[in-house]
Amino acid sequence: MKKILVANWKMNPSSLEEATNLIGEIKEKLAGVKGVDMVVCPPFIFLNEVGALLKGQKKIKLGSQDVFGGEGTSFTGEVSVDMIKNAGAEYAIIGHSERREMYETLQIVSEKIIFSLKGGLKVILCVGEEARDEHGEFYNYVKDELEMALAKLNKKNLSKLIIAYEPTWAIGKKENEILSPENLHEMVIFVRKVLTDKFGEDGRLVPILYGGSVSKNNAQEIISKGNIDGLLVGRESLKPANFAEVAEMLSKN
Ligand code: PEP
Repeated sequence: MKKILVANWKMNPSSLEEATNLIGEIKEKLAGVKGVDMVVCPPFIFLNEVGALLKGQKKIKLGSQDVFGGEGTSFTGEVSVDMIKNAGAEYAIIGHSERREMYETLQIVSEKIIFSLKGGLKVILCVGEEARDEHGEFYNYVKDELEMALAKLNKKNLSKLIIAYEPTWAIGKKENEILSPENLHEMVIFVRKVLTDKFGEDGRLVPILYGGSVSKNNAQEIISKGNIDGLLVGRESLKPANFAEVAEMLSKN
């Protein structure tokens, strides 16, 4: 399986000019990286322009950071699957903890997954515990998230699903405040088991990524010991040279 690298720009940058420069630099710096599927997820407002700048090349795919999970048009402020696809995107991040902290429930997440898949987008579903406890309750938390979010998923769509395990407490932190690669390794085995319990052997096809304060300085250890199929990178993806170093590390492992 090819490794996957997702860039979540979050609510950055603040102008189209900066977004254009950023994708230009990312394209340039990642030009030599081989064997990694890359997905860049800018804010909605830049999707069309970034999509146009990615057109005609195969290395970097476009993704959204969210999607509307329903049909119809009377939904002020929302962005539909069709709009996202027409901008050139193939992926949607769904259930990011920063959205779920605001208001998004697992019921909403589950609907968004179904509508995205139905409309032809691939889904990057984010799950992860808010905190760790010494009794291992956080495992049940992640299991519940997966089971609720994927409750309506048909097995035939598994090839369009990616799981990003992102412990909420490790997102937006310093690069030395993250999960140990050993703990990550255990969690990846656990997530894989939840998927195979639910979907049988086909559950093994779903790539499992890690996200949470990945940087060029901690990525190597996470990649070599974490048992992961790729990474979801937030802030470090806004620094093209650093992001390219992370991509190189993934390509060599
Ligand atoms: C994220 O936005 O999903 C993320 C992991 O952010 P950061 O890498 O900045 O912690």
